[in-house]
Amino acid sequence: APSAASPLLVHLNPEQLAAVTLPAGHALILAGAGSGKTRVLTTRIAWLLQNGHARPGSILAVTFTNKAAKEMVARLSAMLPVHVRGMWIGTFHGLCNRLLRAHHQAAGLPQTFQILDTQDQLAAVKRLCKQHNVDDERFAPKDLAHFIANCKEQGLRPNDVQGQDSNTRKKIEIYQLYEEQCQREGVVDFGELMLRSYELLRDNDHLRAHYQRRFAHILVDEFQDTNQLQYAWLKQLAGNVVDGRYQAHGSVLAVGDDDQSIYAFRGARVGNMADFVREFGVQQQIKLEQNYRSYSHILDSANALISHNSSRLGKNLRTTQGPGEPVRVYEASSDLAEAQWMVDEIKQLLRSDGFEHREIAVLYRSNAQSRVIESALFNAGVPYRVYGGLRFFERAEIKHALAYLRLLENPQDDTSFARVVNFPPRGIGARSIEVLQDAARAAGCSLYDGVSAVPGKAGINLGAFVALVDGLRAQTRGLNLRSIIEQMLESTRLVAHFCTEKEGADRIENLQELINAAESFVTQEGFGRDAVALPLDEHGGAAPPKPPMPGIVDADTGETLSPLAAFLTHAALEAGDNQAQAGQNAVQLMTVHASKGLEFDGVFIGGMEEGLFPHENAASERDTLEEERRLMYVAITRARRRLYLSHSQTRMLHGQTRYNIRSRFFDELPEAALKWLTPKRQSFAALASHSGAGSAYSSSARQSFGFKSAGAESGVFAHLPVPPRKGAPAHGLAAGIAVFHTKFGEGKVLALEGSGTDERAQVHFARHGSKWLLLSVAKLTVV
Ligand code: ATP
Ligand code: MG
Repeated sequence: APSAASPLLVHLNPEQLAAVTLPAGHALILAGAGSGKTRVLTTRIAWLLQNGHARPGSILAVTFTNKAAKEMVARLSAMLPVHVRGMWIGTFHGLCNRLLRAHHQAAGLPQTFQILDTQDQLAAVKRLCKQHNVDDERFAPKDLAHFIANCKEQGLRPNDVQGQDSNTRKKIEIYQLYEEQCQREGVVDFGELMLRSYELLRDNDHLRAHYQRRFAHILVDEFQDTNQLQYAWLKQLAGNVVDGRYQAHGSVLAVGDDDQSIYAFRGARVGNMADFVREFGVQQQIKLEQNYRSYSHILDSANALISHNSSRLGKNLRTTQGPGEPVRVYEASSDLAEAQWMVDEIKQLLRSDGFEHREIAVLYRSNAQSRVIESALFNAGVPYRVYGGLRFFERAEIKHALAYLRLLENPQDDTSFARVVNFPPRGIGARSIEVLQDAARAAGCSLYDGVSAVPGKAGINLGAFVALVDGLRAQTRGLNLRSIIEQMLESTRLVAHFCTEKEGADRIENLQELINAAESFVTQEGFGRDAVALPLDEHGGAAPPKPPMPGIVDADTGETLSPLAAFLTHAALEAGDNQAQAGQNAVQLMTVHASKGLEFDGVFIGGMEEGLFPHENAASERDTLEEERRLMYVAITRARRRLYLSHSQTRMLHGQTRYNIRSRFFDELPEAALKWLTPKRQSFAALASHSGAGSAYSSSARQSFGFKSAGAESGVFAHLPVPPRKGAPAHGLAAGIAVFHTKFGEGKVLALEGSGTDERAQVHFARHGSKWLLLSVAKLTVV
């Protein structure tokens, strides 16, 4: 039996110890939040290496974000004096990139292929639509980009997609054109990274056999959020199907939590867990039931909430920590007041409770909520940092700079060409670009190569642009990365341009930061370590140590990628990450999605209102409502010591004031774990049953709150008492009554909320949908 004497293992509980020291074979750890899944996964790698069960080169670990990958590598280096370089630890995209770089010829890509992030992809689709005169009313570029990404996620090339109706056939045609465009330009989007490397493994027996032999240990964190293609990719690496049964070479360890599956909307398949158990004949299923993260008031809240979901695999979580402080609940009158309350509580935590800034997180359901909180923190002088939203590498000025750099590497990259051909402005108008696009299409070449075909003044200006880029390429040949970027910023007049702009100072600062980012990319192991792809080794053994600054090595030619190309890859992958790098000591603001896998001493969850959390798009279907609940479960379980929940009566969102009622999720939390800082008012559930007494409007009222008339959800409030109906109010409005509004026309009242000047009604208008109206303002007349 494994002994816990090793310093690696002393702090593990018996189930964790069993998982870390599992014999070879496939295993699934299915366990709730904070039970140590990620810790077990990391410790297992260390244990395998320490005990000679594996060499670094035989380990492949998939994490959810680049940040998590870096942390894992850092922890392993701290635990063991091993050469971490040989391990493949990264996100799916990062690992696919590595594979494709190493075998770009077999994959049919140029070695310097560039990666399109989501923004670039959309820009590329837009450009394509314009060129081919696609009606963007009927086929919105955004939808098309979605369609393409979806197809790729299901492993479908244009030929594989079934097109029954003319709409779908048109989309398939655009997908086909888009593929050709990307191939011509030498660029791949995120979906393509995954699909192309899957196909590479699938179609090359020799290569597949090599990697299967090599990666004796495959470990996957957050397995519940893998999609179909990612799972198929893992299977290619793990083994072959022989006679319908899986013959795996190595051992696959998957860890996950079905209750934290929050990416179904993007194609994640929680069913991969069951498939994994079946297809791999998993013998070892381990449950971890002890939560090490949170006090019991927090954990009880999470457990109670998630118990309202019906589709669960079923797990328990307990903690030996005490109850801790109750979960504080606050009702604000406005989003501004909510933010102010958060700031007051945060200051209190910092001052009296000794919390560190970075140990406090404010979580929200949608990015738009951050602005108000940011300005409250800013005004109070509390340092903060926003994750997600526009990340560094997605900022316009950074994208412009990167586009120039990409053109140096690959002039065929039309997306980059189009982005900067007239930026900073150099007199090349939309019309000239159209002429160029037509010329390039007619000649079947890139925009860059098509310039010479454009006549007149436009041709002269375009020629000057090409000369600029060509000149820059010649000037920077052989320079180090920092000098290349400095030279580029100067020659292109990017910095000079922003000097003249009103808000240019920030942008110039960011461009400066780009130089720093490049610098640290080169000096940190970042470039050397993460980017190395080991050359094929016939025996599957560890490759010899690399010389300093190795770069990415082409497995066939031994050619290495330039630091510039490697940096551009890094930038594109970072832009696709859900989380940013660890920052200064600041309060952390992020969406709930981005908080997955993280933990903080204090957590605030704002905007807990119907329509926001659960999100209005999600509230009408049981499956999506359950996903919202899992999202809430993720949010709650990020907290170690303190949890704060808040909602607001009014909120400015997308330029409109909305009157919101408290989220139904409050009614699913155990009263004993909560402390209401403001009086608890009529609940969502009571309101819903209030209007649901079997009258004609009940079903529509329920639908507008997202309830199906029957099913698991109705049980949630079935036991709650129906509040007694008071005498009819003076205005004569009640649910079900037909009203007239001067702007919106005729409608029907669905619900009433609040009292006095705060009283508001939810009214369904035939032509304008449901709205919440403040009665003291909206002039409603009873019809
Ligand atoms: P999530 O589902 O949120 O990703 P997880 O299951 O991956 O959570 P970890 O992040 O690995 O959980 O662990 C949660 C916290 O508990 C971490 O701070 C970790 O260091 C700590 N922890 C895990 N196991 C133990 C243990 N046996 N003793 C003490 N602390 C532990
Ligand atoms: Mg984890």
